[in-house]
Amino acid sequence: MVLMKSFYELEEYALVKDVPIMQKEGIEYLIDELNKRNAESVLEIGSAIGYSSLMMATHVKGLHVDTIERDDTRYQEAVVNIHDFNQEENITIYHEDALEFDDTLLDHAPYDCLFIDAAKAQYQRFFEKYIPYLKEDGFVLVDNLDFHGMIFDIPNIKNRNTRALVRKIKRFKDWIFSNDEYDAHYVQVGDGLCIITRKDQNENRN
Ligand code: SAH
Ligand code: MG
Repeated sequence: MVLMKSFYELEEYALVKDVPIMQKEGIEYLIDELNKRNAESVLEIGSAIGYSSLMMATHVKGLHVDTIERDDTRYQEAVVNIHDFNQEENITIYHEDALEFDDTLLDHAPYDCLFIDAAKAQYQRFFEKYIPYLKEDGFVLVDNLDFHGMIFDIPNIKNRNTRALVRKIKRFKDWIFSNDEYDAHYVQVGDGLCIITRKDQNENRN
């Protein structure tokens, strides 16, 4: 089978057009986790141009990715890329705002993984809306918890809007790390990842 596009091309495109796709080590970490757990399904919030969906679908055997993107242009680009990589059977893309999306339409629930990589100010809302669709022993991965290192020095962020956004990320971080129901682990790769599992799961295992 001859592919009409390469991942290198998508990475270059993202760089030039300022599309915030996952960093290489970040997506590799996620792919490893999915393979280790023999994951069959992922729900991704924030498809952008389809890069991470395509990386997952082509590197994890038997995986189906459901992914949601609200932006018109990026959605259209993702559709083209999914076609060019011949992955239409393995990826279902929804053109919606994930917070307004009728979640009963989700095709492959319950999921082995919920991957949150959309509007950073809304992490907790995405989490709370979609966590019911995660399998008992599934995991959540959240990207951009460092926000380019800014999270460690909030008072010195000059731009007010950026400061407000970084505060919101910090609020999510504090909330999830002190939550009784979930175990959260910070992973220092890419722009800072967080992997979250249900607590009972770990306790039952012992
Ligand atoms: N996961 C992608 C990158 C996603 S970038 C990759 O690594 O290849 C974040 C994307 O989330 C943007 O394209 C943005 O339009 C989208 N987004 C932000 N808020 C959203 C929402 N509420 N619902 C759906 N998509 C959203
Ligand atoms: Mg990201």
